Amino acid sequence: MESDLHLHQAWTARPDFMEPNDRVKLAYERARAIINAYDLTEEEIEKCMPRFWDMQCHGLNSRDVGSSNVLFLHRPQAELFGGFLLTEVGHGLDATNIETTATKVDDGPILRTPTPTAAKIMPPTGLTHGFTKLALVYARLIVEDEYRGIHPFLVTLCTGRGMCTGISSSTLPLRAGTSPLDYAITTFDQVRLPPASFLGKSLAKPKDPKALLLRTYMWRVTVGIMSISGATAQGLKYIATIGYD
Ligand SMILES: Cc1cc2nc3c(=O)[nH]c(=O)nc-3n(C[C@H](O)[C@H](O)[C@H](O)COP(=O)(O)OP(=O)(O)OC[C@H]3O[C@@H](n4cnc5c(N)ncnc54)[C@H](O)[C@@H]3O)c2cc1C
Repeated sequence: MESDLHLHQAWTARPDFMEPNDRVKLAYERARAIINAYDLTEEEIEKCMPRFWDMQCHGLNSRDVGSSNVLFLHRPQAELFGGFLLTEVGHGLDATNIETTATKVDDGPILRTPTPTAAKIMPPTGLTHGFTKLALVYARLIVEDEYRGIHPFLVTLCTGRGMCTGISSSTLPLRAGTSPLDYAITTFDQVRLPPASFLGKSLAKPKDPKALLLRTYMWRVTVGIMSISGATAQGLKYIATIGYD
């Protein structure tokens, strides 16, 4: 039950004296508890139906920012957590210039980080025991030496037991003033992907590659931005209530 979530053992646990790695794992366990309690359908997530927003704005989200961050990236039933790997060390707001490549060969694309500035930055991709992490990785599609636009690829980053071959995740230092999460720098060394990993519209050269990325593939980012604000809004409500009392 959503209303009993604060009694779940992941939420009654006291993280204050835990080691950072245990706190990161707890963040995932807390997110999993919320996801399982809501048990949203794919339709509720896809269409941003009222229970989707109810979950994003649940009061507990403001108690653990790490947990709320991974909550926004889950899939139904919480068997898998997802990431969104667009930004690179050398390319933030200028996302249309990212350098990661996905070169098409007969049995699927090969994902590669060609330079240090092409490393993906910030999303939590580290190994967390017991959790499988997938990601939408944005990369420049290369077919027969021709650039065919930036597209999303579905990549398994790690299983609960180890990182997948060719994928490395270097955890960044903990951020001050918030609960820890495995924010990281992620690189790909000739990672062979199955053909079905290509989630783009078409392998053909797009007429307007910029519009394809910014309008077709990235519209959902706005939903993520609003979800993150939901946790902050709850936190402000608590502060105002405590101040008033
Ligand atoms: C906690 C956290 C989590 C994150 N999670 C993710 C994630 O899950 N997935 C992901 O892909 N990325 C993630 N990011 C990265 C985030 O998307 C980038 O930080 C963001 O896109 C900005 O890029 P940048 O930091 O490289 O800033 P830059 O692009 O370098 O921009 C910095 C500043 O420069 C100025 N500027 C830049 N370009 C222009 C311009 N053309 N005109 C005028 N001014 C300009 C602006 O003032 C801007 O605010 C995360 C970042 C943080 C902090």
